[in-house]
Amino acid sequence: MQGEQLYRQKMLRLDADEGVRKTTDLSKNFRKISPYVAGEQPKFADQIKLNTNENPYPPSDKVTEFLENFNRDELKLYPDTNGGELTQAIADYYGVDASRVFVGVGSDDVLAMCFMAFFNSGREVLFPDITYSFYPVWANLFNVKYRTPALDENFKIVKEDYFCENGGIVFPNPNAPTGVEMPLADVEEIVSRNSGSVVIVDEAYVDFGAHSALELTNKYKNLVVVQTFSKSRSLAGLRVGFAVADNALIKQLRAVKDSYNSYTINRITAGAGAAAVKDDEYFKSTVERIVKTRENAKNTLWELGFTFPDSKSNFIFASHKSVSAKEIFEALREKHIFVRYFNLPRIDNYLRITVGTDREMKILFDFLAEYLKDKA
Ligand SMILES: *Cc1c(COP(=O)(O)O)cnc(C)c1O
Repeated sequence: MQGEQLYRQKMLRLDADEGVRKTTDLSKNFRKISPYVAGEQPKFADQIKLNTNENPYPPSDKVTEFLENFNRDELKLYPDTNGGELTQAIADYYGVDASRVFVGVGSDDVLAMCFMAFFNSGREVLFPDITYSFYPVWANLFNVKYRTPALDENFKIVKEDYFCENGGIVFPNPNAPTGVEMPLADVEEIVSRNSGSVVIVDEAYVDFGAHSALELTNKYKNLVVVQTFSKSRSLAGLRVGFAVADNALIKQLRAVKDSYNSYTINRITAGAGAAAVKDDEYFKSTVERIVKTRENAKNTLWELGFTFPDSKSNFIFASHKSVSAKEIFEALREKHIFVRYFNLPRIDNYLRITVGTDREMKILFDFLAEYLKDKA
């Protein structure tokens, strides 16, 4: 009798302990996620920062002008829910109706909205095995099944891999982190053969000499072209990205955004972004400078013993013939020269080097010449 009582008391105590554990362990309520890891933002006075594909030149003077004349009273009022003057400026620049433009907080926001809006068939979404590493993160976050067809040995997307049943397609053009451009005819073939699913072309780097699929949005109802102000327009810190597509797709994107957060574009962003788009001359001159520096960098890298796929972006994805990428990455880091290294299958012997100013590239190359001399 006594034994049974003791046993019951013990069980009650265990239940109580369990109750305490249950209420304090909050992590069981948490979602299991593995986030995207952005490149580091070091802050050394002497650093050469070539690791996150930012533009080395400042934004347009028109942006400064806007910011200096901005009336703070405007901040009392909510902004336009669809980006207002920024959406209109983008529409005017690309010659499309504003109803065919969706703006977001950087193209990451636009792409995330696209995943939510368009990848709901239950079928597998397709993107390359080597590509922007945010795609699998969004797919997991939004419970989207996906498959990753392999790039060929020259880091080219094999278009035929996308001629099959799927729940949507997304790829950057030029691809990241390789910098390789897919010819526009191949992009079009992927779009035209997939009229039953949405194809997203992420053109984060297209302004640096590649061919945009934007015009094709007039012809295909299943194509979304996404671009950003972060690279070619020197505004990574402002956070502006946009999509151009058929009205029906833009309407759907806006509906998804308005089901989550209506006011994504604040008044300062809308005005400063619009000012940047309107300064086409400055935009073209900066892009031209970067392309020139990139082409020179290709020659120098080649002389230093690097190989790389031909880049149409503002970075070069390079591998050295005798010294490992990790070793070079660490040696550069010690000198406060930051490039990007991905410890991932197939690309763990490559460095992604952002094209900086001519001065920055010279410092990088001078160091590499010295460093590699002793290794060869
Ligand atoms: C940089 C980048 C983006 C996102 O940039 P935002 O700053 O969010 O506009 C999207 N896709 C690719 C491939 C990128 O490299």
